Amino acid sequence: MLYGAIETGGTKMVCAIGNEHGEILEQISIPTTTPEETMPLVTGWFKDKDIQAVGIASFGPVDLNRNSKTYGYITSTPKPGWGFFDLVGTVQKELHVPVGFDTDVNGSLLGEMTYGCARGLTDAVYLTIGTGIGAGIMTNGKLLHGMLHPEAGHIPMAVHKDDTYTGKCPYHKTCFEGMAAGPAIEERWGQPGKKLRDRKEVWELEAYYIAQALTSYIMILSPQKIILGGGVMHQEALFPLIRKNVAEMLNGYLRTKELEDLDSYIVPASLNDDQGIMGCIKLAIDAAA
Ligand SMILES: [Zn+2]
Repeated sequence: MLYGAIETGGTKMVCAIGNEHGEILEQISIPTTTPEETMPLVTGWFKDKDIQAVGIASFGPVDLNRNSKTYGYITSTPKPGWGFFDLVGTVQKELHVPVGFDTDVNGSLLGEMTYGCARGLTDAVYLTIGTGIGAGIMTNGKLLHGMLHPEAGHIPMAVHKDDTYTGKCPYHKTCFEGMAAGPAIEERWGQPGKKLRDRKEVWELEAYYIAQALTSYIMILSPQKIILGGGVMHQEALFPLIRKNVAEMLNGYLRTKELEDLDSYIVPASLNDDQGIMGCIKLAIDAAA
């Protein structure tokens, strides 16, 4: 059986064909311009490929409520042309197969839970830190949607006492994304993160903010594992700093076997940046079932 996968992003659409084992057999990348230009290229690529279903993981905000009139839409995105675009409907109309749909971060989490480092678990968080910050959350074996979907990149932060940066989020200034996403790093230090590799203070401060967020997720969601992905997390020096800060912030309050081994608890994404597209395959498999 073959399944289609579409991971929509701000700059490109990754499309793939995979099998029930999550193996990617064919993959292409199509630039995200306007829906009129991009979508016929996307759906056209899947025609004649004999897929059973398609899984889509999309940038948001998206409408995941099946009872809503705008289910399957990208909703209030500032990306020109894509606001209130019927993504699921467009794909369904062209390909005539069942369509599974979720957020990009839930897609990545599902990939890790099905094929990667979180296999066998029921509760986990996948956090991506890049141009923005978002988190996919699974609780009791289900991807969390709630009234909309979590926006765990926009939680408030306690600003570090030595940090004078005023924050980049247009809504909240000094929220997690406003203090710790790639654009905030670049604005605060005057250079992109890639060029700051050897500046210890950059990553110490970054780890301080990431650890605060993880501590909140741990306290509220009680995950069995936390997976960190996205461009900023390619800076591997961050991991030990984050674990150290989390241990300090938890301050011995919680005692579990998972927290005794933070090296196995707070981990990098494990699927070579294919976690998102592999999650889409799983969304398609579930949609076909
Ligand atoms: Zn914010």
